Amino acid sequence: MKVTDHRIEPIWYRETSNLSAGKVLDPTIIVMHYTTGWSGTGSRDWLMGAAGGTSNRGSSAHVVVNRDGTAWQIAPFNRVAWHAGPSRYGALKGLNNHAVGIEFVNPGPLSPDGSGRYADGYGNRRTEGDLDEFGGYVSAPHSRVGSQVYAWPLYTEAQLATGRSIVEALTAGYDIRAIVSHEEVDTRGWKTDPGPAFPMESFRALLGEDHDDVPLMEVTATRLNIRGGPGTQYEKLDPPGSIASADVVEVLSSEGVWRYVEVKSGGGAGTRGWVHGAYLG
Ligand SMILES: [Zn+2]
Repeated sequence: MKVTDHRIEPIWYRETSNLSAGKVLDPTIIVMHYTTGWSGTGSRDWLMGAAGGTSNRGSSAHVVVNRDGTAWQIAPFNRVAWHAGPSRYGALKGLNNHAVGIEFVNPGPLSPDGSGRYADGYGNRRTEGDLDEFGGYVSAPHSRVGSQVYAWPLYTEAQLATGRSIVEALTAGYDIRAIVSHEEVDTRGWKTDPGPAFPMESFRALLGEDHDDVPLMEVTATRLNIRGGPGTQYEKLDPPGSIASADVVEVLSSEGVWRYVEVKSGGGAGTRGWVHGAYLG
């Protein structure tokens, strides 16, 4: 697959009605979602709004990936779609303006009803046998949806393979800096997608070493925290927030999206520590 003129040929293409008028997207992030539904065409048509013959006027995405591996592109990658809601990734807020949204068809967490059946978020019930036919599930709690253990239906191999091909086309076609879950960027604390059944790390790994091979990079955030370790739980180094827009850093190593850097210019020159890779360009 390859991106040409903001579309991936030869994927089915039809444009959703739910796009921000006049806003140009230059994607640097990919946000992964599940549809919270069982039907691929049903979710696709919903996300297309009026163009799909549905009443939905509030959400969309760029691509929907069905369980059989079929993909439907419903927005060009240079248009702002509505999938991330109130969201933040490091210093970037409102990720719809920065991100491609990929929706994977999956019902999300199913709640056991105590009599061998599982209810989805809309109250539809499925038996254990239904779920086996659907490809099985993983059992896991999730503090955002309650205290019990939920059944999270698995994604299919065909679906994940198509998802990987799409991500590879996007990373080849755009300067993608990060692949994130909706859950990790949602600022309201509601979202759980794409959930524990989704192999998020294998998708992040598709960013590959291109970004690790560029030792000298520029800070693109206004201010950027430099930390003692690869995560926001690590302490900010003194002076905190000491590197600023256009400061140059040398990338010494990487762990996930975090980069261990030595600051080469500006007030923090000489400092070594960890920064979030999304804010280096
Ligand atoms: Zn989502």
